[in-house]
Amino acid sequence: MKKDDLITLDITDMGTDGEGIGKYEGFTFFVKDAVDGDRVEAKIMKMKKNYGYARLMQVLKPSPVRREPGCPHARPCGGCQLQAMDYQAQLDLKARKIQSHLIRIGGFADMPKPEIMGMENPWRYRNKAQFPFGTDREGRTVTGFYAARSHQIIPCTDCLLGVEENQMVLEKVLAHMEQYQIPAYDERSGKGLVRHVLIRKGFATGELMVCLILNGRTIKALDRLSASLQEIPGMTGITINVNTDNTNVIMGRELLLVWGRGYITDRIGNVTYQISPLSFYQVNPVQTQKLYETALEYADLKGTESVWDLYCGIGTISLFLAQKAGQVYGVEIVPEAIEDARANARLNGISNAEFFVGKAEEVLPKKYKEEGIHADVIVVDPPRKGCDPAALATIVRMQPKRIVYISCDSATLARDLKYLCQEGYEVRKVKGCDMFAFTMHVETVVMLSHKKTTA
Ligand code: SAH
Repeated sequence: MKKDDLITLDITDMGTDGEGIGKYEGFTFFVKDAVDGDRVEAKIMKMKKNYGYARLMQVLKPSPVRREPGCPHARPCGGCQLQAMDYQAQLDLKARKIQSHLIRIGGFADMPKPEIMGMENPWRYRNKAQFPFGTDREGRTVTGFYAARSHQIIPCTDCLLGVEENQMVLEKVLAHMEQYQIPAYDERSGKGLVRHVLIRKGFATGELMVCLILNGRTIKALDRLSASLQEIPGMTGITINVNTDNTNVIMGRELLLVWGRGYITDRIGNVTYQISPLSFYQVNPVQTQKLYETALEYADLKGTESVWDLYCGIGTISLFLAQKAGQVYGVEIVPEAIEDARANARLNGISNAEFFVGKAEEVLPKKYKEEGIHADVIVVDPPRKGCDPAALATIVRMQPKRIVYISCDSATLARDLKYLCQEGYEVRKVKGCDMFAFTMHVETVVMLSHKKTTA
């Protein structure tokens, strides 16, 4: 077997990146775009010692869960991995992914497959999109999404996971760039102006925000562009984010207001949130409500508890919890997010929530050591890399009755749960929540309680 050989194989599993997995003459092959249950013809792209990568050439016998992708860009675009799979089958795959991580990495040998909260409508669920701008081989300005593992832009102004307004915004920006000969940013040379356009919509309020991320502080005929964008229904604010660094970090730190307000508002349940472009906000508000309701149920608050919400962002979960707790303390590393969190507490007349800027792994130990703070319940919702060991060690020392762990990466979740369970905690409940249909991402919420207390 060698590169460019054609092989026929049955796909019998899916990998963590959504690729099909099958065996051929004792070798394991990873075949992107193949679906569990397919028989495919594939071309070998790369051979390793006992496995290889192959490209899907032809589906010889489709899997019962294979579907025609809704999006014409599904194969080249790196955004979705599961467009060719039935939605219920996607949910089952995600449940198995969580289960397998908890068994293999966490060591929870008898972990059952968790329940997954799925979406009623798995399309157009994203309230936020960041579109990169670039120049194609013919010299035309393009925007869309990156191809998988590359920075090549697949032109697409209407992603079916995003809101319909995205297309209106992008077409207006592209037309403006063409009219005034404004170049897109070029990552290699560091020249050119327009890097990304960030669009966010409040699903409950209809408010729309556009942020132009520029390699500079302004753009030619800005007033005209602004006026044109203001025509889009719901437009609430237009901002410029300045990013002149030669980096693939999307946003810079400086934000300039062009028109309207520098933030939008949205509602989850009965809490209203103010969201600025630099703050993290869950991208799927419908599923977020289910996730937070589960977190609240797992926290099992009676009204007097002291609750810590680590990695709190703009205070989304904190304010949800504050309605049922005695006092809530939020910790978050991004200062703008904490400003939003404080404003959000005021906006909702919530006076029992206090917020601290800093790293969870520094703020929590400091408060514990210097002020002897106490926690009945600790909620954590870290980024993909999971919790820092110092944060986990302090949580264990503080001995809260319950820990609610919300995770966007079940592998690091499993690692952290293993530690917590070695240090006196027990996993009581696990549930998945699908926030990102057609991708391999899945959110997990876990309730742990101290072995000394009953759940
Ligand atoms: N709980 C929030 C945000 C979760 S996303 C919500 O549901 O909306 C994770 C958050 O952790 C982001 O806001 C990110 O800025 C923050 N963060 C990342 N590293 C951190 C650290 N070391 N300490 C505290 N916050 C951190």
